[in-house]
Amino acid sequence: MSANEKMYYAYSTIDDIRNKGEYGGVVTTILKHLLESGTVDAVVGVEEGHDLYDAVPCLVTKPENVIKTAGSIHCGTLNLAKFISKYLDGCRDMKIAVSCKPCDAMTIRELIKRGKIIADNIILIGVNCGGTLPPIPTIKMIRDVYGLDPKKVVKEEISKGELIIETEDGEKKAFAIEELEKDGMGRRENCQRCNLKIPFNADLALGNWGVIGSLDGKATFVEVLSDKGAEILGDVIDEGLIEVEEPIEKGIEIREKINNALLNASQAKKDVDYCGTTGDIIDVFYKYDEEFSKCMKCYGCREACPLCFCEDCCLEAEGPEWVPGGYTPAAPFFHLTRMVHMVDACTNCGQCSEVCPCEIPVSKVWNTVNNKIREVYGYIPGFDSENRIPFTEHSSKAKKL
Ligand code: FAD
Ligand code: SF4
Repeated sequence: MSANEKMYYAYSTIDDIRNKGEYGGVVTTILKHLLESGTVDAVVGVEEGHDLYDAVPCLVTKPENVIKTAGSIHCGTLNLAKFISKYLDGCRDMKIAVSCKPCDAMTIRELIKRGKIIADNIILIGVNCGGTLPPIPTIKMIRDVYGLDPKKVVKEEISKGELIIETEDGEKKAFAIEELEKDGMGRRENCQRCNLKIPFNADLALGNWGVIGSLDGKATFVEVLSDKGAEILGDVIDEGLIEVEEPIEKGIEIREKINNALLNASQAKKDVDYCGTTGDIIDVFYKYDEEFSKCMKCYGCREACPLCFCEDCCLEAEGPEWVPGGYTPAAPFFHLTRMVHMVDACTNCGQCSEVCPCEIPVSKVWNTVNNKIREVYGYIPGFDSENRIPFTEHSSKAKKL
């Protein structure tokens, strides 16, 4: 048992799960157990679709099928929180467990606070995340920069500041992630800004950082973050489904060091992204006026945003009579209205930028404004907060002005 009883090295005792799992198959074993024990009705996971550039969210109800979700898919633009709030009706009629990256966990928590997901009906099995890769640009980068056949790639991972690509022929090439990103490649832009790499807001956080010694690459580092998480982990240990060992002290330090290095890099990216604006709304809209003028009002960003959830939206194309000269709202009205509805909740998930056909940096804009809201109201979306939700309650007075 771990000295602090909160952190463990762990691996599955179920051979096929251990083999297919990314680092010992602990997440998959936990999810399978939760289904088998009847703790949940279904699990939400991610499976490989057409190829490893195609991450597909899936709902699994049979324990024997959970294995199809084992392994990490780094490409793909998933919207797990929306999948749960919209298509699973916020878990109103079912209990689920979901494997989630930190941004998924933040958005789910924010939707819980806003009454769109039922807290008691969801278990968050968090996985660390150093960032995701956009599928099509990644295929292009592997072909043009790495000089490898994207169809032959079996593994891509970020380690020690490099993006390593490995093919089925055993060929391995690596480039510094910082250099790639300077040239507009590498991780999705919002991931480069992300301020949560270990999902401390989940019930359990699992990853490979900090696993050193004989278990390096073969086990998952597990941190227990809630009573619910402690109970689940205790059950899988007691039933002999996973083996655990006390983590090496040096490993704990390494995990913290990597996490801090990535958070510092995110802060540096934010400083670049926010450059030239104070985060004040008018300032930001003035700066991005030209970009917003390209908006074709496809409504893609509204549809993709997991935190934009009104059933009757005042921005419907046929709706607003206050729009002069047309039925679809003009770009500034459209974005200003949308902003008032969601920007205090924005978790920088990046879905809006992902879908925008006009390549407007929507996520960067909302993140800039949200950062200002954090400063003024002391409210951090995606975490429990003593401070009230800024724009949704009466007399929402700023914490510090
Ligand atoms: P498994 O038993 O293999 O289960 C993996 C689970 O991850 C499955 O339930 C699957 O549904 C889920 N999953 C797969 N792809 C996604 C996705 N795109 N979004 C959400 N869920 C997904 N750990 C680190 O310590 N450092 C990192 O930098 C790091 N980066 C990661 C980046 C991504 C995009 C992902 C998905 C994971 C990352 N991890 C990272 C976590 C690590 O890869 C393993 O998921 C973790 O160690 C658990 O290993 P396991 O063998 O127990 O998981
Ligand atoms: Fe405009 Fe882009 Fe949003 Fe479409 S996705 S409405 S083009 S900002």
